[in-house]
Amino acid sequence: MRNRATHGPLSTVPELNRTLRFARMEAQQSEADTKPYFTSGERLVEFLRMKVVGGLDDLTNLKRASRSIRRSDFMAVACEQLVLLNALERLMSLAAWARRVESEAVLVEALVRERLLDELEIDYSLVPRVWWYLEPAIAATSQEPSPTLRREVLATAGPNCYVCGEALVAGDSTVDHVWPRSLGGESVYENLLPCCGTCNSHRGNTLNWARAWFQALSAPPEPNVSEQQAFGLVKTRIAGLYFRAFLRSRESGQSMRDSLLHVGPCVDHDLSDSQAPLDFFRFACLPDPDALFA
Ligand SMILES: [Zn+2]
Repeated sequence: MRNRATHGPLSTVPELNRTLRFARMEAQQSEADTKPYFTSGERLVEFLRMKVVGGLDDLTNLKRASRSIRRSDFMAVACEQLVLLNALERLMSLAAWARRVESEAVLVEALVRERLLDELEIDYSLVPRVWWYLEPAIAATSQEPSPTLRREVLATAGPNCYVCGEALVAGDSTVDHVWPRSLGGESVYENLLPCCGTCNSHRGNTLNWARAWFQALSAPPEPNVSEQQAFGLVKTRIAGLYFRAFLRSRESGQSMRDSLLHVGPCVDHDLSDSQAPLDFFRFACLPDPDALFA
């Protein structure tokens, strides 16, 4: 039988586990901090993912639930993404409100910290770190890309729209923020891609793949032709593009911008021969779904 004395008192074990868990999270966080392509909004979301929202047990339960309704395991990822984006939007609007009602920076900060504790059920010890990530994210919302930066993006990442692949024409060429400005996406080269006016207006200001997945849940797992047509909406196709880039970015460590360029423009998918259960993820991964679901 083990001699407990050689392993120290048992009461220190949970404490040690807590310390180790904290050290691991700190290490992951500093990795997120040093990725130069992460925008302030992305850094805040990474922080929320690691310190505030859910955990592995929740994801396992969600995967089990998605299988039970014949949906992909990615449903769990989409749920997590929805929760994180929702928390980010609430934080950004909370900060915007605080800036409207208080003029001094120090009072804005105090107000945000107070409301964070009241409304978001965030642990007291995390509030200063949330503010630390939130402050630059708010600053990013009022940064317009300069004319020089716009020209540089169009000259070096063009000449085609990153969403539809069509050649850009004078008078209809814009630069799109990969991570939206309203969610803390800086106006820097690493966060901008050339985009035609039509795709830019369809894309709007959102990171919409997780939301499109949610809307697509209203279609049955094996939709008929008319139900499949709902998947052809432009916004859903853009969401599919962002979903594939999201996976690529997670697997390769590339930035979202580089991943979007790697994945290439979204195209119309022909779903007429599809016999397999279909959901947003399968649609988003066509024409090669097996590579992902193997
Ligand atoms: Zn386009």
